[in-house]
Order: sequence, then structure tokens, then C-alpha cells
Amino acid sequence: MLKNLVLVFNCGSSSVKFSILDPIHNKKYLFGIVERLYLNESCVTWHVHKKKKTVLIGNNVSHNQALKFIIKVIFTKYDDLISSIQYIGHRVVHGGNQLIKSVIINDTIIQKIQENSVFAPLHNPMNILGIQASIQYFPDLKKKNVAVLDTSFYHSLPDFSYLYAIPYKFYKKYHIRRYGAHGISHLYIAHKTSDLLNIKFNNLNIITCHLGGGSSITAIRNGLCIDTSMGLTPLEGLVMGTRSGDIDPSVVFFMYDILGKSMDEIQHILINKSGILGLTNGLTSDFRYIEEKYYSKFQAYRIMNLFCYRLSKYIGSYAASLEGKLDAIVFTGGIGENSALTRALVLSRLEFLGLKIDNNLNYQPNLNKSRFINKKNTIPLLVIPTNEEFIIAKETIQLFL
Ligand code: ADP
Repeated sequence: MLKNLVLVFNCGSSSVKFSILDPIHNKKYLFGIVERLYLNESCVTWHVHKKKKTVLIGNNVSHNQALKFIIKVIFTKYDDLISSIQYIGHRVVHGGNQLIKSVIINDTIIQKIQENSVFAPLHNPMNILGIQASIQYFPDLKKKNVAVLDTSFYHSLPDFSYLYAIPYKFYKKYHIRRYGAHGISHLYIAHKTSDLLNIKFNNLNIITCHLGGGSSITAIRNGLCIDTSMGLTPLEGLVMGTRSGDIDPSVVFFMYDILGKSMDEIQHILINKSGILGLTNGLTSDFRYIEEKYYSKFQAYRIMNLFCYRLSKYIGSYAASLEGKLDAIVFTGGIGENSALTRALVLSRLEFLGLKIDNNLNYQPNLNKSRFINKKNTIPLLVIPTNEEFIIAKETIQLFL
């Protein structure tokens, strides 16, 4: 029987990632992803024993169907491995002001995660589905489930970065502030960058860009996060798959007062119908389409430019947050790791900061390994595959050691 095995579930907005790993020896035994949830041709890919398998599961597959397929169809093929699982770690997107660090899950914690769904309606409910499936299918491990929070990394934000300029009582009384999200990924990327650059974590000054179904960017100074683009909820900031990112709040008043939309409708539009999906008139939220059609379809060209322009503005402003002390810019996430075009377009606006991309390196195929894409002797530009699962497993096991 293998020891220290942790099953990790990462139920994202458009995907479910799963892995079984030993974080102490940094050994991954099985990992995979169900992609294209709620789209045509939802599919699962998993890696085990150095082999990769892909299966189409159907159309419009939900989170629950995906979880059931993973546990009932895939896991049953690997009985030895599954029977060795000792702990289950879950990514939980929003901990609000109550859940500040990783915690063993019980009914009260599930209740708190549920309450914080108001801050992350696309995520916390999905995270709970992962927790419920784990408890249902692995009843013996009921007390070995851990929530690892995406918001923990942001408790170092200074007040001038996390406060909104609204009456102060809304912060004091109702805790309305910037909480950030994707913290697990940004933290992993920062540690990996510190290793790759051989800079002590406490001295590290970087900007990390996590670009996926949801996208966010952080400024990290001396190893602590000092700013991030997601806010009270994961709706603020960059352009995303179905989320608008930054808008003037007056758009909401206009939709309500002039267009007669209800608050629920407006929330649904901004969270589920905007971003890439909204700009393609409901055609797709899949960024691969935007990249493929960039040269042939004006709509895709425009969306790509909008996405990249917003991101380059944020990088420019975070360079100011770091007062120009920049050890590296790092790209990760489905888009950040795979879209060379996005990286090229974003960085082409930022040469004035000394950022110089080497397009020979940038356009090398993605082999799922960390790599530098900058010109020699210029500020390091890095592509690092994120590994949230590793941080989740590590935090999980630490609570029991
Ligand atoms: P999530 O936020 O759900 O975890 P991911 O980090 O897996 O999402 O990223 C999903 C996004 O990455 C999707 O928009 C997908 O289209 C995009 N993506 C994946 N592969 C590529 C690729 N080769 N080129 C461009 N975009 C890609």
C-alpha cells in the first residue's frame, strides 16, 4: 500500500481537475481534467502509468456528471491506487472573512463555504459538489477532507489595495473589500519562479498572470501579494470566458433603470453571459476559437485585442505597484500556458518596461514544462504550468501530520 496519497479535486468554472499524488515525495500517480463542461463534446483526459487517455463523455456534461464519471468509471480501473488514498483536498475559491487558512471540512465548514457562495457564485457551489461527491463515494474518509482556499494568499494585501472607495462602514460592517481569487495558483507560480530564478522567496518581486476560464493577475512584492485583479468576487479584473471583468458600475444602473432588467438577470449577464461568450454573441467561451480565428475573422481579432489590451494595462499598472522592481513576469493557466499569440500581443505593448519577448522561444510547442521566453539579458518572462493540485495536497496532508 502506498503512503501519503492525497486525492485532489479542483472544480473550476468550466472544468473539473483531479489528481492522486504524494506531495511529500512530489510524486503524481494519476491526474486528469474534464473539460468543456456545459458545452458540446465534453471530454475527459487522464494520465496514469505514463499513458494518456481521452474519452468523450457527451454534450453539456455537468459538474456532478463529471465527478461521477471520474469516480465510478475512471477510478474503478485503478483499485490499488484508489484504496491507498488517505486524504482528500479540495480547492475552495472564496473563504470570505471567516475562512482564512486551510481547514478540515465538517458540516459547519460546508455551511461557511455555502454562505460565501454570494462572493463566488460560479465556484463555491461547484467546490461543494466536489466535497459532497467525496463524502458520498469515500465515506471512510469523511473526516479527512480539507478545504484549501484561493483567498488565503491575499490576506497580505495592504489596505490601500483591498479597500474600495465607498463609505467605510461597508467594509467595517459588511466586510466588502477586495478578496482576490486564484491564490493557490499564484502562490505555486511564485514558489516555482523563486526556484527557477534562484531568488529567495522573501525577496521575490514578480507579476503573475493566471489566464484560463477565469483570469487574474497579481503583483507580488518580497514574496507577499500586494495587489490582485479579482475583487469582492471573481468578477472584477481581466476579460474572462463568461465574466465581464472591469466595468463601470453605471452599466448595472443602466441595465436596471433603462432596460428594466432585474438584479438577478444583470448578475447572470455579467457572470455567465459576458466576457468571450458575450463578445462572440453567445457563440463560445472557448479561447481556442479566438486564437484560431484571429487572422480570419474580424470578431475574433477584436476580442483578442480587447483581452490583450486589458491585460497589458494591468501589467503596466502592477509594474508601478512594484515601483519598477520586477524580477519576472509569469504566464500560467489554460490560455497563459498555451496561447503564444496572447503572450506576444500583450508583451508587444510593454517593451518600454524592458520586457522583450523572444518569439522563437515563445512559439515553441507547449511541453507542459516551465520555460523562459524572453530575449537574452532582459527581464525574465516565464511560462509555468500551474500546479494547484500540489499546493492543495501539501496543505491537506500538513493538517494531519
Ligand atoms: P479553468 O479556469 O476552468 O481552470 P483553464 O485554466 O483550464 O480553466 O483554462 C481554460 C481556458 O484555456 C479555455 O478558455 C480554453 O479555451 C483555453 N485554452 C486551453 N488550451 C488552449 C490553447 N491551446 N490555446 C488557447 N487557449 C487555450
